[in-house]
Amino acid sequence: MATKKNSLKPYQQRRDFKHTPEPSGTKATVKKAKGSLFVVQKHAASHLHFDFRIQIGKVLKSWAIPKGISPNPAEKHLAIPTEDHPLAYAHFEGTIPEGNYGAGTVMVWDIGTYKNIKEKDGKIVPIKQCLNDGRVELWLEGTKMRGGYALIRTQLQAGKQWLVLKMNDQHAARSGVFPHANKSALTGRTMKQIAKETGVLKVGKQSIELTNQDKILFPRSGITKGELIEYYQKIAPYMLPYMKDRAITMHRFPDGITHEGFYQKDISDYFPDWIQSAKIRKEGGYNHYVVCNDAATLVYLANQACITPHIWLSRINKLDYPDKMIFDLDPGKDDFSIVRKAAFAIRDELDELGLKSFVMTTGSRGLHVIVPLKSTQNFDTVRAFARNVADRVAAQNPKLFTTEVRLNKRRGRLFIDSTRNAFAQTTVAPYAVRAHDGAPVAMPISWDELKKPSLHAQSFTIKNIFKRLEKNKNPWPGFARCKQLARPIL
Ligand code: MN
Repeated sequence: MATKKNSLKPYQQRRDFKHTPEPSGTKATVKKAKGSLFVVQKHAASHLHFDFRIQIGKVLKSWAIPKGISPNPAEKHLAIPTEDHPLAYAHFEGTIPEGNYGAGTVMVWDIGTYKNIKEKDGKIVPIKQCLNDGRVELWLEGTKMRGGYALIRTQLQAGKQWLVLKMNDQHAARSGVFPHANKSALTGRTMKQIAKETGVLKVGKQSIELTNQDKILFPRSGITKGELIEYYQKIAPYMLPYMKDRAITMHRFPDGITHEGFYQKDISDYFPDWIQSAKIRKEGGYNHYVVCNDAATLVYLANQACITPHIWLSRINKLDYPDKMIFDLDPGKDDFSIVRKAAFAIRDELDELGLKSFVMTTGSRGLHVIVPLKSTQNFDTVRAFARNVADRVAAQNPKLFTTEVRLNKRRGRLFIDSTRNAFAQTTVAPYAVRAHDGAPVAMPISWDELKKPSLHAQSFTIKNIFKRLEKNKNPWPGFARCKQLARPIL
């Protein structure tokens, strides 16, 4: 049981991390716990058993215990050494899919810290020495297990069999039963609940473990996280071309849209290795943004209750040069007709300047007018141009439109917002879901569609969008090939 440098190799060789949600152990992202970690996992594999693991450096030394551990010192149970597991495994609870090594449900049955209490001549014996000697004595501080426990190697099976037992102290219990024995120490769930709530969805080459699919994210419309995930999986082929190679900001709502969500720029360290990210400078440091180039990432983010991904106007390989210009039109009052008017006025102005533009309902209250660019002009140039266009449109109809940034000077007029054309600014991605009742979607539409009087900012939702796409698979033909220059206005 020596701790070797590459001791995770057997663990990694037995598993295909494209097919199991277990951690690969290649990313050293687990935060240092105070003291050394121990975990007991209940594992409904082909045979139900418990896995006892203790942290030694960066790995978890492990034993499989078919009968589990008893708090009664009289009950010694067999413990069989198994391969070292990565530290991140201590928090793994979920379901390993059929066909994989150890397929079945895993519960974090107990977790906490341990202290090595094995003494010789009044001194603590180093833990690695204890493992070599085949006599380990630990003081556990878990949620179920407390006090002294011993692991002792027997002479049987060439030392491949150990025994685990409770030592005699105030925490020993003759009853042989632990409190809350049926529930997870991490989530309070039973094995049945874990099995039910964690499904594994295969998307492309990845397996994504889905959690809490029944959770209602949109209470008034009763839309669940499972439905959000299903939507993003289905919309991926339409949406991904607009996300490709762009940094995204995640707008997450873990408790649904009636609770405050939060914006998250940096990738979380528990996100799996296969999720792409980009390190991007900011004042005084860097952000590590998620880059969403595949359906699996989109689905993974939806499972994180990221209802709305917001994207940059430039791509990660050319961060200072936007490949689109945007005019954001949000009505002061809930009046869509004025938004529609402004969008057409901007389109006509751009037409005169020889620029093709596209329009999108935001799924919230307004519209975005988007001009694809060649990505050779920097943000300052593009923003100055956009401001110029906005000013000209506002000047044509000063009673309805304004470019006045100060709210008190707008006097109810529609603000033609060109300020989003800047480094690190994000706008809602096409086909992204918005955090409003009914799960409306930011929907690319044609200019003809915008003429329809019944159309409004939330016309398209996750419930009706696919019917709409059946009729017309690409509302923005030519968008990708359209690479324009914003030439100075004379
Ligand atoms: Mn196991």
